Amino acid sequence: MASFELLAQDGLARAGQLTLNHGVVQTPIFMPVGTYGAVKGVSPSMLQAIGAQIVLGNTFHLWLRPALEVIAKHGGLHGFMNWQRPILTDSGGFQVWSLGALRKISEEGVAFSSPINGDKLFMAPEDSMRIQAALNSDIAMVFDECTPYPSSHADAATSMRLSLRWAARSRAAFNELKDPSVPNALFGIVQGGMYEDLRDESLEGLREIGFEGYAIGGLSVGEPKEDMLRILAHTAPKLPAHKPRYLMGVGTPEDLVEGVSSGIDMFDCVMPTRNARNGWLFTRNGDLKIRNARYRDDLLPIDPMCLCPVCQPEAHGDDRPPFTRSYLHHLQRIDEMLGASLSTVHNLFFYLQIMREMREAIQRSELQAWAATFKATRANGPVQETSHPHS
Ligand SMILES: [Zn+2]
Repeated sequence: MASFELLAQDGLARAGQLTLNHGVVQTPIFMPVGTYGAVKGVSPSMLQAIGAQIVLGNTFHLWLRPALEVIAKHGGLHGFMNWQRPILTDSGGFQVWSLGALRKISEEGVAFSSPINGDKLFMAPEDSMRIQAALNSDIAMVFDECTPYPSSHADAATSMRLSLRWAARSRAAFNELKDPSVPNALFGIVQGGMYEDLRDESLEGLREIGFEGYAIGGLSVGEPKEDMLRILAHTAPKLPAHKPRYLMGVGTPEDLVEGVSSGIDMFDCVMPTRNARNGWLFTRNGDLKIRNARYRDDLLPIDPMCLCPVCQPEAHGDDRPPFTRSYLHHLQRIDEMLGASLSTVHNLFFYLQIMREMREAIQRSELQAWAATFKATRANGPVQETSHPHS
């Protein structure tokens, strides 16, 4: 059985340690997204160098390509992608739901046409568990239906109750497939749209079934930020205290701070990786759009304060000077893949670094002060050449 140990609490925020089949994860943690078994443009050794402890893989996409038997030949997803630390896989529920007109949902599961070749396919909770078992995910997620936004109370209730029945079927199938000697975990997902009473009902039902961890799903699906924060603030503190808590698909650096402050332990989001590929860089002093003409001849690193291998190679035992904004601007403008790769390393490092800092601040009972400084500094805007202390 995966185990979770709470090490410190600061208000609602928690620092903990999650022990999984492929290693220990210090929480709170951000999980880089590796949809097709790769965090785009970043090698496993670089992920390890920047402190990634667990990555996310995508059940639906890996099932379609390269197909399960190929991954099974490698003994699972760890061997296939050559990543020996923990992996969490989503259930595929969100992806089949996202197919829109291509899918039909019934009590049994979801019928859909393959977005790759149009094949008629079917995914039920039992299929999702079978796939995640073949991937040998350290953490599998229950197969559920994401409630669309906006939804009426009645529609959100119907959807959430279907997800609960699927959660029970997921639990049963997971247990049947599970190798008792391997401590892989299954997490439940709280749904219920933007309605507090439905979120409570969902959580109650999931607790009755019993999971190794609990996630909040169905946020960041197009709702206004204040609705997201309202449901987060309502739901997070009610999740079982001695189990890991995971906020799915959220979000900006500020969202991570809100999440941790509300008692969330785990996060994933495509934002740092996807934005990096478009030249959107996160820094301590706000976001920097490297394609902007002002960076054409800017000799500063992305962020003079950042300790990542791009901004400060020396901190990683490499005696070269930092890559300049000017060079990254150039790489983005000519669509060179090295630009996407370096930018992704920087953004992921930033996300992982703020989680490390929050973890330490919680252990010193100083998260509130840390968060206030972080928010104020982020609002300053990127460091400019004239304001750089060494220029
Ligand atoms: Zn950096």
